[in-house]
Amino acid sequence: MIMDAFAPKLQQLLHRIAKAIDRRQSPVQSAVTLIAVSKTQSSQSVSELASLGQIDFGENYVQEGIAKVQALKPSFPHLVWHMIGPLQSNKTRLVAQHFDWVHTIDRLKIAQRLSEQRPSTSKPLQVLIQVNIDDETSKSGVHPSQLLALALSIKDLPSIELRGLMCIPAQGSVQAFAQMAHLFQLLNAHQLALDVLSMGMSHDFEAAIEHGASHVRVGSALFGPRVSSQID
Ligand SMILES: *Cc1c(COP(=O)(O)O)cnc(C)c1O
Repeated sequence: MIMDAFAPKLQQLLHRIAKAIDRRQSPVQSAVTLIAVSKTQSSQSVSELASLGQIDFGENYVQEGIAKVQALKPSFPHLVWHMIGPLQSNKTRLVAQHFDWVHTIDRLKIAQRLSEQRPSTSKPLQVLIQVNIDDETSKSGVHPSQLLALALSIKDLPSIELRGLMCIPAQGSVQAFAQMAHLFQLLNAHQLALDVLSMGMSHDFEAAIEHGASHVRVGSALFGPRVSSQID
């Protein structure tokens, strides 16, 4: 896409985010971070968005993401990279070395490996626990009943910092956002001091914000539809 095409899309998205924040019943967090989900998009597209001031980018696939991190680093060293795809244990080292955030922690072992493999010269990896909020067998994420135990077991790992929760609700599941907000409060009642709720995608980010999302992950509303031959 040419640069001129991104500017109005980004502006419109930021405007819709601001409007959704205004509609919140009680302002849980005031700011919302837009994560531009750049999976399957070119480094060139990322670079154009970065030139417009976009800072946070989300990637689903480890190798593809690292290629972009490295391509963009010389011109845009301040970008913040989020791993938002499922993470297998044989990929944790690469993620610990190249990403700033991981949204998809769903078991202790992955968190331990990321903490051990985080380079000592980097600041702690910022992590979120993915919650399987609609209890779908096809989805990754921890079951809500096991969330507190997992959060307590990873909060003291030295080189990662537990910041909050992430979910990918079932299509059309609006109550999932309210349930996430409830779990978030519940964990904070246990002194976990979480400040990040990553929820909402192109089709539902406004509802997510109304329920207290602090980070929304938006791909197609910004980049247009993904090429169908590529895996989603
Ligand atoms: C692809 C993806 C998104 C963005 O989806 P869109 O519908 O294109 O906005 C957000 N979160 C995760 C985890 C994804 O895999």
